[in-house]
Amino acid sequence: MEIFDIDIIDAFRDTLKQAKKITIIGHKNVDADSLGSSLALANFFKKKSVITKIIIPDEIPQYFDWLDYKNRVIIYEKEPWEAVNIISESDVIFLLDFSDLRRIDDLADSVEVSSALKINIDHHRDHKNIADFCFVDHNRSSAAELVFEFMKIIDAKNIDKEIAEYIYMGMTSDTGNFAYDSADSRTFGVASELLEYKIDKSKIINGLYNNHSADRMRLLGHLLDKKMYFIPDKNFAFMVLSLEDQEKYNYKPGDHENFVNFPLSIADVKFSVLLFEQKDTVKISLRSIGNIDVNKISSKYFNGGGHKNASGGRMYSSLQNAIEFFQNNIDEILVLGKQ
Ligand code: 5GP
Ligand code: MN
Repeated sequence: MEIFDIDIIDAFRDTLKQAKKITIIGHKNVDADSLGSSLALANFFKKKSVITKIIIPDEIPQYFDWLDYKNRVIIYEKEPWEAVNIISESDVIFLLDFSDLRRIDDLADSVEVSSALKINIDHHRDHKNIADFCFVDHNRSSAAELVFEFMKIIDAKNIDKEIAEYIYMGMTSDTGNFAYDSADSRTFGVASELLEYKIDKSKIINGLYNNHSADRMRLLGHLLDKKMYFIPDKNFAFMVLSLEDQEKYNYKPGDHENFVNFPLSIADVKFSVLLFEQKDTVKISLRSIGNIDVNKISSKYFNGGGHKNASGGRMYSSLQNAIEFFQNNIDEILVLGKQ
């Protein structure tokens, strides 16, 4: 079934056309999919007569500095009143790459009371009805892929090279550079269409993957060497990133992005977990290969969600308790994941 039904789009096409203030909201711990989708859509609606703003709940990691986003994005954590004002004055609000309002923290209150037309475009499982129109399909590679299709239906001629680059950025990032199962023939079809815009693919790849600090690489080396625990007979590995190690390696927000994937390159590992210690909580990242549904595990144990092979959540406990939780319950966790 086509997710962007013309009749449904026609129901709000005029409202969108007449909108004077369009606001785009991405999720916290923003990633390349959420940020890429947001920048693409903001450019798409850029017109003299329309004010388009992007709001992101918390700090954007430094490794996105190669993107020219600074004048276009408001960080709620830094400018809460500005963000709330923008939301309250919006005619249309887009919610991109999430479908659970908990993923935008306190911004959720402003979004809920807003009378703007709300449109949600997302690809996560267990989606909640958070907008007037929800275009959500968990079989799609990325929110960016869906945003591209959405833009084509609204006004294809408005899509340019820069927009296509932002979409490509979201897609490559959420598919492990087009490697995961979620990258299907349709995904490659969209990627092929994007190449028609003569996008600078290597700029995006270098920006995303070859743009890290030496501290970050050393931290990764340290974790793999000293803080990775591997249980071969359970095909399970977990890695622990403590506050102490964060300090020692001069940790910057986003530095641990992708760390959880590294243990999966061990032949016997099918399920990988990263425990990331924060001031009052432990953030949990889960990844799997094949038939272990980590979304189920996140929803049941960690107040989170995501996708079948990539999910996240948190524990409100000490790091030590989180480690023990996995040690004591790994069998039960695996049973649930394989159900
Ligand atoms: P990560 O481990 O990189 O933080 O997240 C992996 C995937 O799980 C992402 O697709 C992300 O959107 C989702 N995810 C991460 N944390 C949460 C959470 O707390 N709640 C929900 N519903 N999804 C999450
Ligand atoms: Mn995504």
